Amino acid sequence: MKFDLVVIGGGPGGLAAAIEAKKNGVENILVIERDKELGGILQQCIHNGFGLHEFKEELTGPEYAERFILELQKMNIEYKLDTMVLDVTPEKVIHAINTVDGYMAIEAKSIILAMGCRERTRGAIAMPGERPAGIFTAGTAQRFINMEGYMVGKKVVILGSGDIGLIMARRMTLEGAEVEAVVELMPFSGGLARNIAQCLDDYGIPLYLSHTIVDIVGKERLEKVTIAKVDENRRPIPGTEITYDCDTLLLSVGLIPENDISRNTGIVMDRRTNGPIVNHTMETSIEGVFACGNVVHVHDLVDFVSEEGERAGRFGFLIFC
Ligand SMILES: Cc1cc2nc3c(=O)[nH]c(=O)nc-3n(C[C@H](O)[C@H](O)[C@H](O)COP(=O)(O)OP(=O)(O)OC[C@H]3O[C@@H](n4cnc5c(N)ncnc54)[C@H](O)[C@@H]3O)c2cc1C
Repeated sequence: MKFDLVVIGGGPGGLAAAIEAKKNGVENILVIERDKELGGILQQCIHNGFGLHEFKEELTGPEYAERFILELQKMNIEYKLDTMVLDVTPEKVIHAINTVDGYMAIEAKSIILAMGCRERTRGAIAMPGERPAGIFTAGTAQRFINMEGYMVGKKVVILGSGDIGLIMARRMTLEGAEVEAVVELMPFSGGLARNIAQCLDDYGIPLYLSHTIVDIVGKERLEKVTIAKVDENRRPIPGTEITYDCDTLLLSVGLIPENDISRNTGIVMDRRTNGPIVNHTMETSIEGVFACGNVVHVHDLVDFVSEEGERAGRFGFLIFC
């Protein structure tokens, strides 16, 4: 298979890039997405607040994604779902696999990397205690509840007060769970003030700043979590412990750009962002390989991801001129 442009990742970054490239005259485009549908992480973000910059409207995540998916389909841009990209060579051959076509080696004149980011897990933060079931990243819980139809627990503690942690505190409450506390290591929350008001204050959920988890107890399923206040060196202060009976702990402790493929290809990375170094056209250190969205650095707002995708799509096209 040969394409002028292959976009890896069908989230908002990849969709905007493919659409913009087509608008600029690139005919032969393929979008590759490992999930069952296009839209990326937005499909699980069913709360509103998306699109204020891009559409001057307040949309839910799936509504925002739908606008781009419909445009992509209207433009007859080819895409493959349920298809995992395994590797990209510096010569721009993409190795991918799915259950219909099997193993594929796809040649591309130009590639746009739009693989998004992944969440930090318990393993990424030295967390003491036993290792029972009931500990999820906030995004995994969000997907289980909003897309797969599974409720993850009844009594919940959340570690991390960025926007994903705050939104999940409200979501769990609306689904009937009791959220005991949101715990934040830093002396301030990383989330928007509006989310603290609407997701915690409105539901009487306490936020413990300068606190961390010092113990996890549970044999099969999580039974207790102990938190404690930390000093200015982020060390727990003895005597400040509070123990919660709970069956679920959600971790919202950071996102990491998804760059295993970029690293294997030999693309030069930025140690500060964990994403590829890109120039003003979003081109990486390999000519004709571009990147956009959360794979470059973690964005707060999806609207800016779309903007960046458009830039990559526009300049991805220019290399053919
Ligand atoms: C859990 C979570 C919740 C979030 N909530 C919000 C929110 O409420 N509001 C907000 O503005 N932003 C939110 N964000 C930020 C959000 O990630 C961005 O706004 C935006 O979705 C990023 O777009 P993207 O296209 O860069 O990445 P994504 O939306 O993550 O899309 C990347 C796509 O690439 C695919 N992919 C990855 N690797 C491969 C591969 N090897 N082969 C094939 N396909 C691949 C993935 O399946 C995915 O569909 C959230 C992020 C996370 C992780």
